[in-house]
Amino acid sequence: MQYKKITSPQRKNIALVAHDNRKPAMIDWCRRHGDRLRQHNLYATGTTGARVEAAAGLTIDKLISGPMGGDQQLGAMISEGRVDLLIFFWDPFEPLPHDPDVKALLRIAAVWNIPVACNQSTADMLMASPLLEQAYTREVPDYTGYLARRTGD
Ligand code: PGA
Repeated sequence: MQYKKITSPQRKNIALVAHDNRKPAMIDWCRRHGDRLRQHNLYATGTTGARVEAAAGLTIDKLISGPMGGDQQLGAMISEGRVDLLIFFWDPFEPLPHDPDVKALLRIAAVWNIPVACNQSTADMLMASPLLEQAYTREVPDYTGYLARRTGD
């Protein structure tokens, strides 16, 4: 596998997703980190975004609700380089109808090598990182050679 480098800007695009049982934890976390989060562009799946906006006073670009495709929408945004960091409080105690979408979102975040926090303690550590407020270069798979072989270019 070949790799290439992609640079995330200083002002990051941060995506927030919380399953229903984890929404109180997400709201609490967003309140605690509001000052830092306001320095970045925020996106969230529909219900998470509406709840966090109302409770934590943050401005959030709200996507489709998770069970209706919001997780897949976020996955597409990650693939397009439009999300630099994912805070995803998924519920480890309850199966959900869109579990395949959850798995797909976690997979695509790994493919594109973006930082992902699945619980508050990891999310706290991400917020404490000096890299959050710097441009950051990461490696991602480079399919240029593969595509050239497939298309005969
Ligand atoms: P929601 O979606 O923010 O619209 O509730 C989150 C999810 O369940 O994936």
